[in-house]
Amino acid sequence: MSLFAILTLFPETLEPYLSSGILRIAQEKGRLEVLLVDFRDFTRDRHRTVDDRPFGGGPGMVLKPEPIAECIEWLESRHGRFRRIALSPQGSPFRQESAEQLAGDERVLLLCGRYEGFDQRLLEHFAFEELSIGDFVLAGGELPALCVVEAVARLLPDVLGDERSAAEDSFGKSGLLDHPHYTRPRVFRGLEAPPILLSGDHAKIQSWRHVQALQRTRARRADLLEPD
Ligand code: SAM
Repeated sequence: MSLFAILTLFPETLEPYLSSGILRIAQEKGRLEVLLVDFRDFTRDRHRTVDDRPFGGGPGMVLKPEPIAECIEWLESRHGRFRRIALSPQGSPFRQESAEQLAGDERVLLLCGRYEGFDQRLLEHFAFEELSIGDFVLAGGELPALCVVEAVARLLPDVLGDERSAAEDSFGKSGLLDHPHYTRPRVFRGLEAPPILLSGDHAKIQSWRHVQALQRTRARRADLLEPD
């Protein structure tokens, strides 16, 4: 069972997605639990203030460290220590192998930023790892948190209908991109599905798919074929 705690100022934006598709299935099967925690609930002032102007001036607002710190301490006093991850465009790139690692963790805390982001001392004090979902800047960490939870959920046992799917997907065991897929009709707008896929010869189909995966990887992501 993987327990995720998502710390966010907008829990209501995450709820519908978490209760659909694979994420719903993972929770129903008891493989995944997701706690949505609004760290605004840990403010102590009348206006429930979570942000403030940056020291040194400049545009935007910075998330205050205290409400988030209290939120983390409250959560950890109830559940124990979490692996602490802050979503940030400056973090290390989130990859399939990061998802595989996280699938082995019992408790993962995902901190969603907003505005200019976090006070640096919060990240240092709680020894946060930082993860980025790509070289672009979103308004908040909520979509990145959903990406992380979903990528992990599909790796948990019994969540996908067929365990082979994850292994055969892009970046899976082979380290290649996935091969192309086809389904009925056999001819779509004049384009025929490759006849070999209808031949019933499984060995030939396997080797055709492997060659396709290799060619695609070479054409689209040659970096994946380079040794580490
Ligand atoms: N000032 C920050 C910077 O330039 O690095 C950007 C802050 S961004 C507007 C607000 C929040 O969105 C971040 O704190 C982070 O939680 C989230 N975020 C935005 N882009 C992201 C990305 N590519 N990966 C992960 N989180 C991201």
